[in-house]
Amino acid sequence: MDSCVCAALAARDHEAAALHISYGQRTEERERHSFESICKRLGIREQLVVRNEALHLIGGSALTDETIHVPESHEIGCDIPVTYVPFRNAHFLSVAVSWAEVLGASRIYIGAVEQDSSGYPDCRPAYYKAFNEVIRAGTKEGSIEVVTPLIAMRKAEIVRLGVELGAPFDLTWSCYSRQDRACGVCDSCVLRLRAFHEAGSVDPLPYVSVPEMV
Ligand SMILES: [Zn+2]
Repeated sequence: MDSCVCAALAARDHEAAALHISYGQRTEERERHSFESICKRLGIREQLVVRNEALHLIGGSALTDETIHVPESHEIGCDIPVTYVPFRNAHFLSVAVSWAEVLGASRIYIGAVEQDSSGYPDCRPAYYKAFNEVIRAGTKEGSIEVVTPLIAMRKAEIVRLGVELGAPFDLTWSCYSRQDRACGVCDSCVLRLRAFHEAGSVDPLPYVSVPEMV
């Protein structure tokens, strides 16, 4: 959902190219399908699909290791949840920076969200500030910048912005555990459903069960 709104913003303001990375996550087929249909809907023709075997082989996350149970939202405490994929966004950004250098692109959009999120450390503003330093020091021109337009937004605000932009929410996928219908109980489903509820919108995705929202 966040990636889709980010892509809609990028496509509105720039000639955009889109990167998709599969990393052995439980829902990779569904996410790949979402990527292709969102690109089509947004008219993004330049696309790159990459498979990252390292994250899958390393495991250590409920998303990439079948033996680690995906927790329901209410089972999650204050610690970083087991759905955190160790240093994942650095892998994504590294591929994006390499591709941006070759394309001659100057900005990399990523839909990281700090508040209303699962509390992953690679979604913090300080991390992106530091990553931009790495890009400046380690690329040919040093002029590529990672931008995080959603990072300080509440999830409900992201839904409202998406509606305003005509972002194709019907084509997105957020569930951590299922690919046929969204489970409605994992942290990602609950954060998403709460955001649509708060924004006064209806989530177009099919759910196994929708928790009572108060
Ligand atoms: Zn789910």
